[in-house]
Amino acid sequence: MHEQKEESNGVSTPNFESIYHGEAPWDIGHPQKEYIQLEQAGEIVGSVLDVGCGTGDNALYLAEQGHDVWGIDFAPAAIQKAQESAAQRHLPVTFRVLNVLELRTLGRKFDTVIDSGLFHWLNIEERSLFIDNLAAVIRPRGTYFMLCCSELTRNPDISKVKDFLPDFDKLTEGLPEFKDGAYHVTQAQIKELFQDGWHINYIRQATLEARLELGEFHGWLSSISKE
Ligand code: SAH
Repeated sequence: MHEQKEESNGVSTPNFESIYHGEAPWDIGHPQKEYIQLEQAGEIVGSVLDVGCGTGDNALYLAEQGHDVWGIDFAPAAIQKAQESAAQRHLPVTFRVLNVLELRTLGRKFDTVIDSGLFHWLNIEERSLFIDNLAAVIRPRGTYFMLCCSELTRNPDISKVKDFLPDFDKLTEGLPEFKDGAYHVTQAQIKELFQDGWHINYIRQATLEARLELGEFHGWLSSISKE
């Protein structure tokens, strides 16, 4: 049940588990600056669920700031690293291996859900299923923060991305929005997907930090509350 899918709509998704046995391009070893700023601005409230938490830098940072935090990811290698970091830093974060399309099985609700670079890996069909599951784990008026790559992304050097993701060509085949090294999530897509049962507080231009050699990616930071 926790296995990563190999094929969806004829398109292969990257094998995240194997990426975590090497160096993941997004695994920067510290929290994303957009999430530090949100926390400092007081926008992150109460209990937090980090969806697609990877090795847990954002989750651990928010736990350090006093939040009750859970993190889930379907890559066991990422969750293992996250659990090791939590133990080393004596932070009581609950990390679990779980597919975000099965979030509702968590059986609890959070005040805030954060997403740093997860949503742009979901295809159109999965996005709706994910949002249904999201609604099940977020309390009314709770907020989902999404940091995703935008259509403005033009990666300066695709060959470097390919070095990190050897199956790049295969995984981007047939995905119209996957161009120039990143999924292109548009503001219009976000607005359409969250039109029923949600309130979009803002969609701001933002940057996603990556490993130094890759630089930064243009993104959207969205704040979306459940009605
Ligand atoms: N949030 C982390 C990782 C971002 S990379 C960070 O900011 O560093 C995207 C993450 O989403 C990867 O760890 C990948 O394993 C995870 N992921 C992708 N699809 C998923 C799914 N369907 N269910 C759970 N995790 C998923």
